[in-house]
Amino acid sequence: MRYEMVIGLETHVELDTKSKIFCSCGGHSAAGDPNSCVCPACCGMPGMLPVMNKRVVELAVMAGLLLNCDISKYTTFDKKNYYYPDLPCAYQITQLNHPICTNGCVDLKTSEGERQIHIKQIHMEEDAGKLVHVGKFSNIDFNRTSVPLIEIVSQPDFRSAEEVLIYLNKLKSMFRASGISECEEGAMRCDVNVSVRPEGSDELGVRTEIKNMSSFEAIERAIRFEAQRHIDAIEFETEELVQETRRFDDATGKTFAMRNKETEADYRYFPDANLMPIIIDDEWLAEIKANMPKAIDEKENMYRDAGISEKEIEMLISNHNVSVLLDETVERGCDAKGAASWILTDCAGILRKNEKLLSDLEITADELSAIIKMVDSGDVNRQSGRKILAAVIEEGADPVAYCKENGLDSKVDTSVIEETIEKVIEENAKAVEDFKSGKVKAKQALFGACMRELKGTANTDVIRELLDKRLENI
Ligand code: ADP
Ligand code: ZN
Ligand code: MG
Repeated sequence: MRYEMVIGLETHVELDTKSKIFCSCGGHSAAGDPNSCVCPACCGMPGMLPVMNKRVVELAVMAGLLLNCDISKYTTFDKKNYYYPDLPCAYQITQLNHPICTNGCVDLKTSEGERQIHIKQIHMEEDAGKLVHVGKFSNIDFNRTSVPLIEIVSQPDFRSAEEVLIYLNKLKSMFRASGISECEEGAMRCDVNVSVRPEGSDELGVRTEIKNMSSFEAIERAIRFEAQRHIDAIEFETEELVQETRRFDDATGKTFAMRNKETEADYRYFPDANLMPIIIDDEWLAEIKANMPKAIDEKENMYRDAGISEKEIEMLISNHNVSVLLDETVERGCDAKGAASWILTDCAGILRKNEKLLSDLEITADELSAIIKMVDSGDVNRQSGRKILAAVIEEGADPVAYCKENGLDSKVDTSVIEETIEKVIEENAKAVEDFKSGKVKAKQALFGACMRELKGTANTDVIRELLDKRLENI
């Protein structure tokens, strides 16, 4: 039987605010030494009260607008109770009953075509602290407690790891471009809910929730592993699938049961009476809309003005790493349209051969611009440029050194080209005769023979020019 994956994401994003969500301590980027960015409120001292940070509401609304959500006019906070050493109050302030945004959607362009992912809700909450394990001791760093987060809950609409990565990259691009979050490492974390079902079925299977993935790559590996585990469990009855929370282990690439899935009742949620309901009226909403950075639109327009196609623009916007690479390559003096094609056609092709995605691309703007410049100046032909590119992406080669070591530099080679032409002319007397007697096509055969001899390393224009000259003198 064929199975399809069904995936839903709960994505946490740290907001780029100057201060924490309920006190005046600096936000997440302000933190320095452990416990240097704390106060009685975010350390949960008795009697301290939360004070809402207005900017958090504004950034959460902006995120909701970007994800086409309904923005709630009335939104409230709840306490989620559980005990863990990184949670000083033994409850987390979050939103259960009246989240700030609901019913959104995100369009994705994938290799299988257009896909739409529905967003169930976005809610605001505070982050927990960090436990740092040292030998047999565990230290607690409260710098991160009460750093503002939004949690974006998707519907179970994803059908592959590829879709998940495109979605995460698109969120990252949008949030960075609009100043909601820089989404640096650790500032965007997601819990992945995975189930499988027979292809064509519209029922949902038993799901497991995976936590603890430190990178997009780990998310991809975790999804692939977990979906296969589900399929094996169903097909071969290797184990019974239960709804539970699992931890992904980066070293082994496997998931391990952590705990049974908690239910809402386990957390004994109740409204937080210390925080007033927030009313977002039309006037405030209009003000937030008006002040929203147009960064994404601007970026799209800039790409459009540079002559980049709509399909390529969509790929760039959905792959944040790649659009940054393009911008940096352009900063180094390369043409935007040409560089976009190097990235989205040549790099993507090399990645595909290695069964990787654009989000896995690892090449610096210095390396890429060096290759593009070698080709644009005619020092290296396009084909050799691609060879160098593959070596950089696959083996981490240095472009200039690789070019030299492999004799791909066509400029220094005119003597080699001339020798090759001599050899080809000697070995192809018939073609030379044909050419001389007026068969223009025969020259193409000679040119082809030169290319074969040179293994495509030399600049084709130079070969043509030297060959023409030589044939004139026969
Ligand atoms: P809970 O209240 O248990 O957290 P939610 O309804 O909020 O459950 O869903 C949590 C996440 O799990 C959502 O992102 C949702 O899309 C996803 N999800 C729910 N059911 C499934 C399923 N059968 N397979 C995959 N993902 C699922
Ligand atoms: Zn504080
Ligand atoms: Mg939930």
